[in-house]
Amino acid sequence: MIQWPKTNDALGTVNRGNPCESGLCTLCRVDCAGKCETWLSSLKGRKLLYPRDYSFTTAGSSNTTHLGVSYNSLRINGYNYGATGLPKGLSNSEDECIFPNVSVEGEFGKIVKTKFRVPVMTGALGSTFVAAKYWESFAVGAALVGVPIVVGENVVGIDKQAEIRDGKIIKAPELDRRIETFMRYYDGYGAILVQMNVEDTRNGVAEYVIGKYGDKVIIELKWGQGAKCIGGEIQVNSLEYAQFLKKRGYVVDPDPTIPEVQEAFKSGSIKSIARHSRLGYTSLSSEARVRESFMKAVKYLRKIGYKRISLKTGSYGMEALAMAIKYASEAKLDLLTIDGSGGGTGMSPWNMMEAWGVPSVLLHAKAYEYAQILAKKGKSVVDMAFAGGLAREDHIFKALALGAPYTKLACMGRALMIPAYLGSNIQGVLDPAVKARVSGSWDKFPASVADLGTTAEELFAGYYDLQKKVGKDEMKNIPLGAVAFWTLADKLAAGIQQLMAGARRFTLKAISREDIFSANRETEKETGVPFITDFADDKARKILKS
Ligand code: SF4
Repeated sequence: MIQWPKTNDALGTVNRGNPCESGLCTLCRVDCAGKCETWLSSLKGRKLLYPRDYSFTTAGSSNTTHLGVSYNSLRINGYNYGATGLPKGLSNSEDECIFPNVSVEGEFGKIVKTKFRVPVMTGALGSTFVAAKYWESFAVGAALVGVPIVVGENVVGIDKQAEIRDGKIIKAPELDRRIETFMRYYDGYGAILVQMNVEDTRNGVAEYVIGKYGDKVIIELKWGQGAKCIGGEIQVNSLEYAQFLKKRGYVVDPDPTIPEVQEAFKSGSIKSIARHSRLGYTSLSSEARVRESFMKAVKYLRKIGYKRISLKTGSYGMEALAMAIKYASEAKLDLLTIDGSGGGTGMSPWNMMEAWGVPSVLLHAKAYEYAQILAKKGKSVVDMAFAGGLAREDHIFKALALGAPYTKLACMGRALMIPAYLGSNIQGVLDPAVKARVSGSWDKFPASVADLGTTAEELFAGYYDLQKKVGKDEMKNIPLGAVAFWTLADKLAAGIQQLMAGARRFTLKAISREDIFSANRETEKETGVPFITDFADDKARKILKS
């Protein structure tokens, strides 16, 4: 079993818990005092691209990336001449082809193009309470940076204040808050997507959203995620709330209407009850029937007014992957997010996360292979986002290259949540009056923060840059979780620019499969990406023999 290192002496980072493939801990805590790379980057920004203590140290790669088959066993290529994909107005001179001039802006979509400033999007942040608690930071951060954010499933269904009558939503305050918070700072880049699972479809989420927000929102059909194969889950610790959710039509376990469960809850031996979603398409027994049902759903969404529709699929096997790519392409969807095992933002069963589904790099390599089959037949292929264990700039670059030219975005769940927690914890200490509102977890700064400063201006490398964008007066209204989101996004963007410059790609569209290689033979076999020294070996020999 591969053990990912807990500490990185070069960057001065240390994981609180056990790191996984993404570099994040298997269990990421909202009250974490640090300090993994993502946590520290949310404060120090692009400084974290470099080893610490410059001029007092030298640094060398640990080369742990060559083991096993994962995103970490892909390496990034670089070239010693040329420049491709120059953005408009940029010449190929050495003076202009510098990494800060690399454009990391892009777009996705079939007819209506959705623009973004950095090729990342959030994972689906749905009914899990952590999404609700830190929503302001996520949504304001995503809108200011200009990247897509996804409202996950069941947000209306679990909202006690929502009113649903005969499958029609009359009132949905939490969903309204989610959309309106993003729209407050939306400036033409990024987008808000609202997911729909079985329950959301029954509850009339699509009709409510189009009626109230028109086509400002992208509607997302949900097949699954990488963390689990049984739909979204949350845990509630009130018997009444569990009974309310049961009445709303959810699968609630253990059943809070059973007297024995009620007794166990009152005695304290059961302290929480889980709410689950339903599986989709259970009554359909063939691929053809699923296709028919899917196309019907898309047709209906278009009929009620949606111009932008996306699909999210999970780490199911190859048949489901092919179905997702084929149907999404045929239905002319705007985006297909393919989520590999096994990170989650909510309450996925642990051993299911450990044992279920197709790991990201394998799933994404196959997604490319299948997309190529369609493309070779002359079909237009849906734009894609790859998700599952992506956290750093090198992961983003590799995901874009592995799925090039179809992959437009790296979808990042847990990593983009960390700045929201951290910023909120800092805000709660700086202004105890708002601590509860922003869900701050700290009473005072831990040493990892206190060592860096005592004010927001001192702590966040991106503070003044963001202030320049929104203005000094407005800056007071920006949650510090969003300032941290901005700071992390700046580090990721600069990191991608550097990797792209090294590969001589000056726009995202220029990134290709030739920009990565496999660091071991097994990765080569599974991904179809050539082994390091095999790539361009023919060109090398030609030079030597000429
Ligand atoms: S922020 Fe999360 S992933 Fe990072 S060290 Fe803390 S617990 Fe681990």
